Amino acid sequence: MEHYDLFVIGAGPGGYVAAIRAAKLGMKTAVAERGQVGGTCLNRGCIPTKVLLHAAQVYRDVKECARFGVTAAAVGYDMKSVYEYKEESVKQLREGVRSLLEQNGVTLYRGSACLHKDRRISIAGEEGETVCCTASHVLLAAGSAPAKIRIPGAGLAEVVSSDDLLREPPEGTRLVIIGGGVIGVEFATVFASYGWEISIVEAEAQLLPAMDREISQNLKMILKKRGITSYTDSSVEEISKDEESGECICRLTSKGKALDLYADRVLIAVGRSACLTGLTDEDVEIAADRGRIVVDDHFKTSLDGVYAIGDMIPGMQLAHLASAQGIAAVEDMCGVPRSVDVNLVPSCVYTDPEIACVGLTEEEAKKSGREVMCGKFVMSANGKSLLTKQERGFIKLVFEKDTEILLGAQLMCARATDMIGELALAIENGLDYAALVKVMRAHPTFYEAVTEAAESAKGEAIHIAPPRKRR
Ligand SMILES: Cc1cc2nc3c(=O)[nH]c(=O)nc-3n(C[C@H](O)[C@H](O)[C@H](O)COP(=O)(O)OP(=O)(O)OC[C@H]3O[C@@H](n4cnc5c(N)ncnc54)[C@H](O)[C@@H]3O)c2cc1C
Repeated sequence: MEHYDLFVIGAGPGGYVAAIRAAKLGMKTAVAERGQVGGTCLNRGCIPTKVLLHAAQVYRDVKECARFGVTAAAVGYDMKSVYEYKEESVKQLREGVRSLLEQNGVTLYRGSACLHKDRRISIAGEEGETVCCTASHVLLAAGSAPAKIRIPGAGLAEVVSSDDLLREPPEGTRLVIIGGGVIGVEFATVFASYGWEISIVEAEAQLLPAMDREISQNLKMILKKRGITSYTDSSVEEISKDEESGECICRLTSKGKALDLYADRVLIAVGRSACLTGLTDEDVEIAADRGRIVVDDHFKTSLDGVYAIGDMIPGMQLAHLASAQGIAAVEDMCGVPRSVDVNLVPSCVYTDPEIACVGLTEEEAKKSGREVMCGKFVMSANGKSLLTKQERGFIKLVFEKDTEILLGAQLMCARATDMIGELALAIENGLDYAALVKVMRAHPTFYEAVTEAAESAKGEAIHIAPPRKRR
């Protein structure tokens, strides 16, 4: 029986990155994958959604190109081709991951892995064969799957998950999305671009409940302009199908009132559940809380030598977080200093305009007992935003008042998801106001607005008019 220093279950962004890091640190490493390498992120998540968002953006841009003096005679789209382009991009990246595992000497087992006592692992292959091996360390990185809701009608064929929606182009022109989180608003952005009638139903008081309130309010307005109706403080009680017309009827309670929404498809986007079924043998008990595996600061589970990371454990479910946790877990196993901080997590939403946040919001900073100093720059005064006609949005920075150290950043503007990196770097390294404004930022760029946002915290921004003096 083959023995490994590390056996990883799941080759998503958590598992495959951890496996490569382990191999680089000299561990004899194997990874088991029952689906495709790259996991949810590459095959059913981050990448395919961003491909669809990109195609939708190109379509919108071309449709609206007359405002730049450019004409396009006939603008159209072919959803089948858009999905083919998605598949091509995913395939190319998947091949890259597979080849990286190989080049780093990581053994890849194809099949469903199960953890037995004493870190024995069995892998059931697709052909019915079973391979067994043992490991000094086991890393559980089996990820998550779309969460289901228990309401009448949830099992109808027209009621789909994000997996279904990414597998093939959906039929129809009306979509009700249950769940106004990141996945819900990104799909809304895609299909609204092609003229679909979209409604989002969110149980909480705001869309993107985990984000800054100002961002949520702005997003709701922007979505409305695109024809997307958001029902917050609302929940779908029942879905039924009109057999004659074939349409779905979503019965909801919205702010205490009953309401019916009609749709061709209903997307359930209410979160994701950890993939625990079949992961461990019946006599292997692993501590879990509310369906997620409990770990300590070193990602150790309740079982000796067994670690868990990514979507399986409590916390945010993000690809880059899963990867960072994988790296940190492996470094802890090897006793080498951590190369990555798993606590400062940038979080991005790929709507138009994009949204990106890192560190504390003003509210969170105040709640933590700090006095704050905030700066904000509205993008309509940024040259690059104006010339590309993407002047909606803002950059908001939160500093600690006494030390002037940057605590957090909330961006809602073009390229926010790229710009957030600079601000994460600043927070991670404890940079303060002076350090942030000292650096010369190129012109014209979106990110020169960071200087203005910072300076506005002290009323020093050049491109913000000073308050009018009283006569
Ligand atoms: C529609 C959508 C869009 C998203 N967009 C973003 C985004 O833009 N940015 C972002 O950061 N995050 C995004 N996410 C979240 C991101 O995809 C996940 O947080 C990330 O993939 C989690 O990584 P993971 O390695 O923990 O698990 P996963 O990526 O789920 O990988 C786990 C792997 O383990 C395999 N597996 C499970 N059980 C077994 C077993 N018993 N044996 C063998 N293999 C097994 C699975 O097949 C899977 O390949 C998105 C998710 C969705 C659904």
